[in-house]
Amino acid sequence: MISLEPSIASVRTWVEDAKHIVVLTGAGISTESGIPDFRGPQGVWTKDPQAEKLSNIHYYVADPEIRKKSWQARLAHPAWTARPNAGHAAIVELERRGKLHALITQNIDGLHQKAGNSSERVIEVHGTVHDVVCLSCGWKGPMQATLDRVRSGESDPPCGRCGGILKSDTISFGQALVPGVIDRAMQAAAEADLFISVGTSLQVYPIAGAVPAAKNAGARVVILNAEATPFDGIAHAVFRGAIGEVLPRIVGVATVVST
Ligand code: NAD
Repeated sequence: MISLEPSIASVRTWVEDAKHIVVLTGAGISTESGIPDFRGPQGVWTKDPQAEKLSNIHYYVADPEIRKKSWQARLAHPAWTARPNAGHAAIVELERRGKLHALITQNIDGLHQKAGNSSERVIEVHGTVHDVVCLSCGWKGPMQATLDRVRSGESDPPCGRCGGILKSDTISFGQALVPGVIDRAMQAAAEADLFISVGTSLQVYPIAGAVPAAKNAGARVVILNAEATPFDGIAHAVFRGAIGEVLPRIVGVATVVST
């Protein structure tokens, strides 16, 4: 019988015993760094359902006005100044101990790398806002150089190579995922002995399927999220607290610092 709410201390022993931890993160881990999520109570879409259009590839390609708004939103994106929080730091600690097999993130903000996780461990299934891509020729370049063009007056800067539409190198709704990246993430999930899902509503597929995939392959599953998720019922432990407070306790960061 699976206990749904073992103590944080018991889960910490699971972390100590584990050799291949896989962490899946969503927008919730970055809210304490000042980057709002989409679907939480303070989420961008919860407050303004129209904002979803800015994240939909069909509107983006069809409507220059949506692209202009998107570039203005990118100029003001909190990712440029956001600092990683205690939740991000706890995952860096797992890597420092040699226990982090993979860090699968739906986030596009780059805060895991900024916190200190190595790029090789981070699997960004929805891309990154730190790069731009041309939707016609596939050219990629750094976001900041393109934002400089927007600041200089180009409201919808075209690709410098082919004149095509530029966009952040993120996966918008309606856009295909990169199969190799998803395969890598699902493979890593199946290799986990402990799988920790943090700050995600687990409503976005196929990556939400990493949770049952890890469970079916024999991993212990821990879910930490402020709200219920569709997979709480199959998890070995479910915590509903604030990530910046609970994740360091699960990882035992305080213990490590004091020894
Ligand atoms: P989501 O918005 O669907 O869910 C986030 C969940 O985190 C919510 O259930 C919310 O209650 C919870 N949460 C928020 N703050 C929390 C906290 N401090 N402690 C505990 N729980 C907290 O996010 P998602 O499942 O990641 O999916 C949204 C999609 O939007 C993703 O695909 C992602 O690419 C994108 N997105 C990314 C960012 C980012 O990079 N930071 C921000 C917004 C959206």
